[in-house]
Amino acid sequence: MSIESVNPANGEVIDSYDETSPSQRENRLERATETYAEWRETPIQRRQVLLREAADVLRANAEEYATLMTEEMGKPIDQSRGEVEKCAWVCEYYAEHAASHLQDEVVSGEPEARTVVVHEPLGPILAIMPWNFPFWQVFRFAAPNLVAGNVGLLKHASNVPGCARAIEDVFREAGFPEGAFTSLLVGSDEIDDLIADERIAGVTLTGSDGAGRAVGETAGSELTKSVLELGGSDPFVVLEDAPMDETVETAVQARLLNSGQSCIAAKRFVVVEDVYDEFVDRFVEAMDEQVVGDPTDEGTDVGPQARPDLMDELHEQVEETLEVGGECRLGGEPIERDGAFYPPTVLTDVPEDAPADREELFGPVATVFRVPDEEAAIEKANDTRFGLGASVWTEDLERGERVARRFESGLAFVNELVKSDPRLPFGGIKDSGYGRELAGDGIREFLNTKTIWVQ
Ligand code: NDP
Repeated sequence: MSIESVNPANGEVIDSYDETSPSQRENRLERATETYAEWRETPIQRRQVLLREAADVLRANAEEYATLMTEEMGKPIDQSRGEVEKCAWVCEYYAEHAASHLQDEVVSGEPEARTVVVHEPLGPILAIMPWNFPFWQVFRFAAPNLVAGNVGLLKHASNVPGCARAIEDVFREAGFPEGAFTSLLVGSDEIDDLIADERIAGVTLTGSDGAGRAVGETAGSELTKSVLELGGSDPFVVLEDAPMDETVETAVQARLLNSGQSCIAAKRFVVVEDVYDEFVDRFVEAMDEQVVGDPTDEGTDVGPQARPDLMDELHEQVEETLEVGGECRLGGEPIERDGAFYPPTVLTDVPEDAPADREELFGPVATVFRVPDEEAAIEKANDTRFGLGASVWTEDLERGERVARRFESGLAFVNELVKSDPRLPFGGIKDSGYGRELAGDGIREFLNTKTIWVQ
């Protein structure tokens, strides 16, 4: 069987890749297990050196990788370049800080005993990754885990097999031993067997809550450690003292980055009465100015959606919302041209429980809600089953921080769009999943925090 990668901007087949057969899967898993036994004993300084090499390989081939991402999933080319650079950053971050994150912690307990907490690797970790940030999502898993002494097995999304192959090559070229990072081109129907395999020590998934529930269930029944980074429906709260120029400009970016396909995109704009009309008018105008088009063109702001079926699903959510009473202020219909192009869209007056209120809209569609005041804004922001990111816009920084502390989310930003940063923990609560990636919390997720007591 082969997997085809298809360019969503024009529907053309880019390449086709052989699926990993059952015997190849077994060989790769066995190889990963053997490599782990040596890799965990390799001094961390050496692992850090190799991670720095990976950053160099990424930068040396940045244009090739950026083009590949843009072709396979339609990301505007300048954003693809930015993604490669961010991957190099996370490699460098852990190359510099891994040893300090993993330092033994001597705890002065009983006077007669020496007690120390150590962080040891667990083994081969399975990473099930999505297509939306096809390099970044993988590197933010791989960099901390490989430097900590685990090895990685990647099951990438089926529409980005070329990216999966290219990432495997990055680690090979950087000098990592064979088996340290392995891509398996398998379908999601093979995931349960992999999680159940006793050689797999942990599993992490980034994707929809449906996929998260399936993986979490299997991991639970196998007692395999899991981390789930799922969807979000982030609120973007605009208070009456928000700096309006900056707020509108960032609102557009926060909704349209990656053509709207980001778990931490702002999706529900919650605006207080006093500035509602001004915000909506200016936001609609600014959304309308964005250039939708060929993602390889330098001036494109919004490319195609990554797959036609994903665009159809998004459009259904918009139609169902309008059927129950929402108003469409901009966009709202697929663009008539080849490829899966959906325009920047703004919905207002959306009734409670409409899809645009309750579900994640994974595309360039913003929903704006009117609320009387700050208290109601916080209530609306938290009235969702998701809990990934949230932001608030106000001139008063103390007020902003007070509101940020009341958000039910893993990430809360004041006067900035929600973003990931290698130095800060990233992850959600509620239906957005559990566990953390990045920073010290992220590197310790798949480690054995072991207590040693010497009497
Ligand atoms: P999925 O969640 O289905 O895919 C993400 C990854 O999980 C892929 O590698 C996929 O493999 C795999 N997968 C899917 N189902 C299972 C399963 N039952 N068991 C194990 N692995 C599974 O995302 P879609 O591509 O279908 O996108 C649908 C929606 O998911 C989006 O509209 C968006 O709402 C959300 N999403 C959220 C992301 C985030 O960053 N949080 C990223 C991507 C999507 P395969 O590709 O082979 O099916």
